Amino acid sequence: MDRPIRALGLFSGGLDSMLAATLLKNLGVEVSLLCFVTPFFGAARARESAAHLGLPLRELDLTDKFTPLLFQAPHGWGKGHNPCVDCHILMFREAGALASREGFDFLFTGEVLGQRPMSQHKSALNLVAKKSGYAELLLRPLSAKLLQPTKPELLGWVDRERLLGLHGRGRKLQMALASELGISLYPSPAGGCLLTEPGYAHRLKELLASSPLLTRRDLELLKRGRHFRLPGGVKAVVGRTRLENEAILELAGPADFILKIQDFPGPIVLLSTNSATPDLNAAAALAAAYSDAPLGLQVTVTIRQRDQQTFVHLTNMPKEQYKDWLI
Ligand code: SF4
Repeated sequence: MDRPIRALGLFSGGLDSMLAATLLKNLGVEVSLLCFVTPFFGAARARESAAHLGLPLRELDLTDKFTPLLFQAPHGWGKGHNPCVDCHILMFREAGALASREGFDFLFTGEVLGQRPMSQHKSALNLVAKKSGYAELLLRPLSAKLLQPTKPELLGWVDRERLLGLHGRGRKLQMALASELGISLYPSPAGGCLLTEPGYAHRLKELLASSPLLTRRDLELLKRGRHFRLPGGVKAVVGRTRLENEAILELAGPADFILKIQDFPGPIVLLSTNSATPDLNAAAALAAAYSDAPLGLQVTVTIRQRDQQTFVHLTNMPKEQYKDWLI
């Protein structure tokens, strides 16, 4: 080809994806990076790492296409509620479509064979590539020598001999390679996806079981506060810190009920419901129980909805009394 070969990399910002991008760049490939964003994983790490490498990064919001996988994932979920195989298929499909539209020659990832039990054993890598519809064009430079040659290798766009044959969970080789390639700043391998976190996954599964419709706002709220399922079936979210209280207020919709104890420091409680008979007394009891008001005291909780304001007077009870409602 009489023009540079252009590759689009799926980029998490982790060390492996940084190595894959740098390897290809050093082979003369014009590299661009792509990261996907949902309420469960964001672009912060990818932004930082892309800036460190000096490579262009594009961010694409995948929420609407990703959400159905929370209800039904043909290849199942991991220990949390992470549909990794289907997530990869979706991401590769989206990346492939973008690459075709914009004239990229191939796709690449930083995946390492055998590194993750659910999505990176050989048959999963092959399955994901095949189901995405871009198997021939999907290069995994870090493990390429252990995988079937792809079109970029077969056509000589990249020299297969200069790709790697990494395998397994260890990071020693990657760290040595990072120092060889001059990558001095890279994130620790931990986390990055809320769906793998047990606490978030538990709250999400509870929400999925009780609500057939999921909004982006619901997913954002799951990240904040304590969550309670009240006896009438309505969900209450109780802020734990000033920042969480502010975030909950920002996420509140016009029809939501906002509760707050009077005369004492206490949390914001959000009751999101279209029920005609919401559990206002139960939510008010939580607003009092998680406040600094002394136990046994008569307190007043303010309830706001739209421009209406009402009050509930109640005796403050210990929060343990409501532990069965906690999700
Ligand atoms: S951990 Fe999260 S982002 Fe990563 S593949 Fe699994 S579901 Fe997708």
